[in-house]
Amino acid sequence: MKLVIAQMKHETNTFSPVPTPLARFATGGGDPPTGDAALAAYQGTGAAIAAFIDLAQAAGAQVVIPIAASAWPSGPVQDAAFEHIAGRICDAVAKGCDAVLLDLHGAMVTQTHADGEGELLRRIRAIAPKVPIGVALDMHTNFYDAMGQYASVIAGYQTYPHVDMYETGERAGRAILAQLAGRARPTLAFGRRPMLPHVMRQGTDDSPNRELQARCRAMEAQGALCASAFVGFPNADIEYAGLSAVVVTDADAALARRWCDELLDMAWEQRRKFVYSTLPLEVSMARAQSLAAAKPAGSGPVVLLDHSDNCASGGTMDTMTVLGAILDAGLEDVAAFAIFDPAAVQQLIAAGIGAEVTLPLGGKLDMPAIRLKGEPRLVTGRVRLISDGRYRNRGPMGRGEINDMGPSAVFDTGKVQIVVISSHVEPHDLAAFTAVGIAPETKRFVMLKSRIHWRAGRKARAHAVGECAGTGVCTSDYAALDFKHVRRPIYPLDAM
Ligand SMILES: [Zn+2]
Repeated sequence: MKLVIAQMKHETNTFSPVPTPLARFATGGGDPPTGDAALAAYQGTGAAIAAFIDLAQAAGAQVVIPIAASAWPSGPVQDAAFEHIAGRICDAVAKGCDAVLLDLHGAMVTQTHADGEGELLRRIRAIAPKVPIGVALDMHTNFYDAMGQYASVIAGYQTYPHVDMYETGERAGRAILAQLAGRARPTLAFGRRPMLPHVMRQGTDDSPNRELQARCRAMEAQGALCASAFVGFPNADIEYAGLSAVVVTDADAALARRWCDELLDMAWEQRRKFVYSTLPLEVSMARAQSLAAAKPAGSGPVVLLDHSDNCASGGTMDTMTVLGAILDAGLEDVAAFAIFDPAAVQQLIAAGIGAEVTLPLGGKLDMPAIRLKGEPRLVTGRVRLISDGRYRNRGPMGRGEINDMGPSAVFDTGKVQIVVISSHVEPHDLAAFTAVGIAPETKRFVMLKSRIHWRAGRKARAHAVGECAGTGVCTSDYAALDFKHVRRPIYPLDAM
């Protein structure tokens, strides 16, 4: 048995000015890994592709990995990058195989294709009309028909923060292996509802997504091969952004349809609970300060969540609005992760450890899609630490996977330790802090450019959370996003 196993993961924020060339899909730039290098990067990690590899090896299959390409979210994927990744996968399939297992995202938009995953699957099907294709997808999938038409099996993450990527790969992979062994005949049903759930209301700690995902697991316990509800990624102005579901059963198309519709109806009935209302920044800052004042000694930090500018949703990670409010308020004992500013890092490195530096920090990227100019802020501090910025995640999210924030520095104002980075990473993992010598649990405040994923590493250790609406292309204020292509009417852009 020969299996082609590949990864192509990107969540595209069509409002983001951050470019997405091929180099963004590889740690440290260059081409994404293939073959043994891909195996070394992912085997033993918590990624869906790691589950595919484990299942294939356990089944004694020959494994071909033409590419493992994963990038932090950003603007539309450059055509040359997509053609390289899709081309390698299609070339491997063309050499012949018994099945294809793909670790995809589900919300990839390229310069040419609104549905990158559907386009990849269409090309594979044109080469291999009958070969089973199993796909693992992120919960933020924006589902297009082509995915459901060309894949044999689809499984989506059931947790947000995404701590079940491996298990998702297992579900998709097992169903395909059962099909190859003649023990199952997967049949799938998919559908959508016209709603754009706010990311800040999508966490699976919270209702209604907690119940929606619990129902998916219950369906699997009742015999579904895979049941998935996708909350969608709303910072993408494409026709089918938003909520969808896919259910795969063993040869029972009617049951797959009924269960899929049940998930969709459940989400639609709860649509108001998926709406997030932002508070003015001064209100959330004042609240956070009073929470910190009432904080018992020895308790964890108050988290200041800069949720409008998070690279795990395509943010530039260099807007200074929330950090500026922290500096203006004179908050003390703060760690801030992170400001993306490669030029500032080079200045800090040149100055050297211990040097006092005044420089314009952040705000280097304009955001024309939301009509904002980048606004650097002059900050004075000392260079406290310099790092190569590489670490492996501790987990539970993306356990064992390599992260690379590039040359990085800790810039200390005396009150705020600012981590300045040269390559985007989001602080979902504690290792992002420990890599630069900061113990966030000992701080009074921790500023995070994150929305929901930070909960994976730290929610239990935080004393309280202040959700701070700053500026950036991950804004939860839909009025700031000029939607032109998403289908209308859609809730809550339209009253329905
Ligand atoms: Zn996601």
